[in-house]
Amino acid sequence: MARASKFREATCLGCGCTDSRACKGPDGDPCGWIKVSYPLAVGVCTSCPEKVEVFDRQLALAEARR
Ligand SMILES: [Zn+2]
Ligand SMILES: [Zn+2]
Repeated sequence: MARASKFREATCLGCGCTDSRACKGPDGDPCGWIKVSYPLAVGVCTSCPEKVEVFDRQLALAEARR
């Protein structure tokens, strides 16, 4: 039985895929992270490059709140 790892999974802001449930890119290959933040549990996968802007904004907001 596999035990869940300690780190939180990140979820893609565009399609909602996660570390354990990668979506398929246009080539049929599993996606990867363009950007990812495990503290925020969000990321942007290679299928959703247009979400990088949203990701950057969320990260800037989180940093401003610190
Ligand atoms: Zn995605
Ligand atoms: Zn994906």
